[in-house]
Amino acid sequence: MKIKSVRTSLYDIPPQVQRTDAIQAFVSMEFPFIEIEDTDGVVGTGFSYTIGKGGEAIKQIIDAYLTPILLKEDASNIDRIWNQMWMETHWIGRGGIVGLGMAAVDIALWDLMAKRAEIPLYQLLGGARDTVPVYNTDGGWLHLTQDELIRQSAEYVEQGFKGIKIKVGLDNLHEDIARIFAVRKAIGKEPFLMIDANMKWNAREAIQLACRIEEADIFWFEEPIEADDVDSHVILHENTIIPIAIGETIYNKYVFQEYIAQGAADILQPDAARVGGITEWMKVAHTAECFGLSVSPHFLMDLHVHLSAAIPNSLFVEYIPSLDPVLSDTLKLKDGHFTPPNRPGHGILFDKQKLKQYQIS
Ligand code: MG
Repeated sequence: MKIKSVRTSLYDIPPQVQRTDAIQAFVSMEFPFIEIEDTDGVVGTGFSYTIGKGGEAIKQIIDAYLTPILLKEDASNIDRIWNQMWMETHWIGRGGIVGLGMAAVDIALWDLMAKRAEIPLYQLLGGARDTVPVYNTDGGWLHLTQDELIRQSAEYVEQGFKGIKIKVGLDNLHEDIARIFAVRKAIGKEPFLMIDANMKWNAREAIQLACRIEEADIFWFEEPIEADDVDSHVILHENTIIPIAIGETIYNKYVFQEYIAQGAADILQPDAARVGGITEWMKVAHTAECFGLSVSPHFLMDLHVHLSAAIPNSLFVEYIPSLDPVLSDTLKLKDGHFTPPNRPGHGILFDKQKLKQYQIS
């Protein structure tokens, strides 16, 4: 089915809570949106996000370079469109803001295809399961005092989340260690506990922490080191029993391939916005399955609940309700799980009136 029109817009939806980690604090989240309409009038909606910089540039890249590709194509040829976008922007792209624009386009095309098929997206993509466990990352931020962190962690477990993740990477390693053990003590043995260093350390520093916290039963150690430095992850991986999780800062399947080939990670965390959309995300996820690895996507829970339910090797969806202020129906936690909406497409119901108050272009 030919594409009739493409519309883009940009929103800044501030986080509902203060967010600080080992390398940044942010108060702004931009969401570039795209609506792709086919000649039958069916509309697919896609989006990606930034943490406050580059949203306008992403919108302009979609308008100037990606929309002309779409207007010549059949909306069903999603892989072909993806590769055209990749090749025609290769000199300025291969990730970064171009990749974030490609992601918005690709997500809209998959939404459109599932709507045409009149089935939920997760079923179009494979339908491996009906529900997905959820862990909470809406807290655990680095600015929290140890007492606040303990209180909040216990609350999340009480609310029924299967696990929680806390940030690490303070200047004082002993303080990080004390916080980890204090949280484990507060939540008990059962809930999953993950830590996230947001790439702050080198291999030696990461090993120093890992060796001292093995008894805290950490389910994964996320982004311990700069994400492009695969070799340092190999060294860390050989020196700890804690599983290594990586992926939110990786822009394409080739870097994931390198991690898999070198045995440098245990859990892959592709983000559909960062990795150029659903097309590339699914390739990473299926490759991970072939090599016995699990997938636990980063952020964008409203979309990732579908992708996680589509594959057999997913672990969790990450609870950060960033889009809730602009939705007319939000995901509900039941027995520690989310269920993808039983509507055609991704089924994310954006409230246009609510969106309007956050629109910047
Ligand atoms: Mg992270």
